[in-house]
Amino acid sequence: MKVLKFGGTSLGSPERMQNVADLITKESGKKIVVLSAVSGTTNTLVSIAAALSKENSEEAGNIIHQLYGSYQAYCKNLLPQADSLKEGLEIVEAHFTVLRSMLETPYSADVEKEILAQGELLSTKLFVTYLAQEGIKATLLPALEFMRIDEENEPDTLYIRERLQHLLDGFAEQDLFVTQGYICLNSKKGIDNLQRGGSDYTASLVGEAVSASEIQIWTDIDGMHNNDPRIVKHTYPIPTLSFDEAAELAYFGAKILHPSSIRPAQHANIPVKLLNTMKPEAAGTTITASVDDARQFTAVAAKDGITAIKVKSSRMLLAYGFLRKVFEIFEKYKTPIDLITTSEVAVSLTIDNQTHLKSIKEELEDFGDVEVHTDHSIICVVGNMPFTKVGMLKKVLDAIDDIPIRMVSYGGSKYNISLLIDSEYKTETLTRLNEKIFGQSR
Ligand code: ADP
Ligand code: ASP
Ligand code: MG
Repeated sequence: MKVLKFGGTSLGSPERMQNVADLITKESGKKIVVLSAVSGTTNTLVSIAAALSKENSEEAGNIIHQLYGSYQAYCKNLLPQADSLKEGLEIVEAHFTVLRSMLETPYSADVEKEILAQGELLSTKLFVTYLAQEGIKATLLPALEFMRIDEENEPDTLYIRERLQHLLDGFAEQDLFVTQGYICLNSKKGIDNLQRGGSDYTASLVGEAVSASEIQIWTDIDGMHNNDPRIVKHTYPIPTLSFDEAAELAYFGAKILHPSSIRPAQHANIPVKLLNTMKPEAAGTTITASVDDARQFTAVAAKDGITAIKVKSSRMLLAYGFLRKVFEIFEKYKTPIDLITTSEVAVSLTIDNQTHLKSIKEELEDFGDVEVHTDHSIICVVGNMPFTKVGMLKKVLDAIDDIPIRMVSYGGSKYNISLLIDSEYKTETLTRLNEKIFGQSR
């Protein structure tokens, strides 16, 4: 079994969706196709929810109306045959009836999640209708019947495996399955999601659950690039990555992969390929357990919206148990720490979730002086850099020697050097690293 995931841009127009159908029929053997919402849809659904949260149902209604028009047009172009078109328009009607009903429902987080789920429900159902029109037999596996997160918002992998296997057993003769990325149920049986970009995570979790032979992530670029192509000119695709390298890049901002999407594939040792729907012949990137020992620097990524917190306390001097007490506060507020550096009398750390920042700061103040700096970015340089490969940290620091660096983290793993800078220096930092450590022109 292979898992093939197609992102929103790969479905952005009826022609693109038809192209996806061509690509999957070229792939032999059993496969599960995971689809995102059509590009732009989830952002639009977010804006509908935002309008409703401000009790502006008129604005929400207008956005729903516009989106409805675009889906009707999409259907008409995708499904020229009368029967299929009728079916497609019925699907659209059903989901827009749900959206319209939200205009009358008191707003809550559950309402928002139900709104956000409509994108993937629409794209998969329309895709299966298109396949049927073309005489391609496919079975829709509703993600809400097997994808579930637990109380900690972590995927319930045992449940996913059992449920998915059970569903697949019901269609032993079938080769082609289609399911929704991103959406899931939560521990209260409510509709939920795996956070933005979560279809990659679905693909990896599905791959793990069925012990797939390969997971393909099809998108609008020819694989993982050495630097962020949205920010830096002259980036290039990386043919191979190790799971650890890919996981670091995904976690620290390489948007091509959801931050958590590599772990399930790594856990089950399933190769992940990043491929380009617009250029299917391109090699893309293959992610496996093997590490390219000869390579030094592999890629760099940046993660924004980082807050640095420094706690300075003379009580830390020669004391044990101090760090534990600090960490317990972050644990209490379920706020993960990304980077950490310490000195004898101070500890600096970073978080990307500011929800509980005020309470965290208040509790930390019991230990000493607390400084908070927002609007920072983590620059994560990934490569194969065990400490015995001398000079790698120096090369990174030399490349950006006039950029103020608030924190440096090196030695935590042999695959990564992380730097914390004010976000205003992000573009310059990424550009300099591209020039100086990857030898690319500006
Ligand atoms: P999809 O809709 O297929 O999930 P995404 O927009 O989520 O696509 O991810 C693909 C985009 O990720 C690319 O178009 C590119 O702009 C962006 N991106 C950011 N960093 C990288 C990187 N290091 N390599 C490749 N793409 C990257
Ligand atoms: N449609 C969702 C989003 O836009 C999930 C995804 O595309 O992976 O975030
Ligand atoms: Mg994505």
